Amino acid sequence: MCENKKNLENPSHFESQLNSNEQETHVDLKWDDYKEKIKGFKFFDPHIHMVSRTTDDYQNMAQAGILAVIEPAFWVGQPRTGLSTFKDYYSSLVGWERFRSSQFGIKHYCTIGLNSREANNERLADEVMEILPLYIYKEGVVGVGEIGFDDQTELEEKYYRLQLELAKEAKLPVQIHTPHRDKKRGTERSMSIALEHGLDPSWVIVDHNNEETVKSVLDQGFYAAFTIYPFTKMGNKRMVSIVEEYGSERIMVNSSADWGISDPLAIPKTAALMLERGISKETIQKVTYENAIEAFSKSGQIKVSDFEIGLSSDPTEKFYGNSVLRGGQIPKQNQNSLYIE
Ligand SMILES: [Zn+2]
Repeated sequence: MCENKKNLENPSHFESQLNSNEQETHVDLKWDDYKEKIKGFKFFDPHIHMVSRTTDDYQNMAQAGILAVIEPAFWVGQPRTGLSTFKDYYSSLVGWERFRSSQFGIKHYCTIGLNSREANNERLADEVMEILPLYIYKEGVVGVGEIGFDDQTELEEKYYRLQLELAKEAKLPVQIHTPHRDKKRGTERSMSIALEHGLDPSWVIVDHNNEETVKSVLDQGFYAAFTIYPFTKMGNKRMVSIVEEYGSERIMVNSSADWGISDPLAIPKTAALMLERGISKETIQKVTYENAIEAFSKSGQIKVSDFEIGLSSDPTEKFYGNSVLRGGQIPKQNQNSLYIE
């Protein structure tokens, strides 16, 4: 009881721990057996929080075929106390983290916005709104996000609306975070407000969908993104069923990997499972690569030729005098070896 309460008070990625109905018994499939089968696939993760991830993650992602990522600005796990930490965070998304990613051969983009949780601190939220224009026009910023509702408060709505206007003005796509609690209502509300502000639904990516929300999102012309995240959101078996039912148009898969228990390889693993279940390579590539590019390219900031054939990284390169791969180290190749050298 006590343990449960604790989990609910500090949920990972804004969410509470529900949806454990996926724990059916099954024969486990081993990821190692599928790495070869998806060689040659290209992956684009349009929602991942790399600031929370390690260099091992970057290496594994690159090896699994992830060519590019989008890192949405979000809540860092505890409330920020001042404007300067927002500034530093946004700067790291367009600066250091992008550089770090490039060192592992992965092209890094981001979306910039005030997350729904911190929209509830009105004084700080007003200050953040003032600095957002300094960041959203920067190179490699492919949208305003992730914004929307968490608890569905009035303040969340206020700053969501203001940021929709900002996106319109900047001609940027919008990446919407939908709430876990009361998701259906929150998703509908997010979409109707976006339409009310005159946004073209094909410029809006509604994220964290599930079986309950997908039909309405697609029917209204929005992009439907799905987060493969253990425990709190969707498992990839459910994702396979959704693609079987709805096809591939305007659907995209992401990991939302962050500081919670999550998997930065969610996309390649889901692709492997789709392949296993007989979904065509063409369909798989649409939902794991092409559709995300199509949606976020509207920003004018994505050049596929920058990453399609792999990003060449220079291990001696520096970012304001600092290197990631100190002394020009080559990323270690064999993570299964007992030797660390
Ligand atoms: Zn997120």
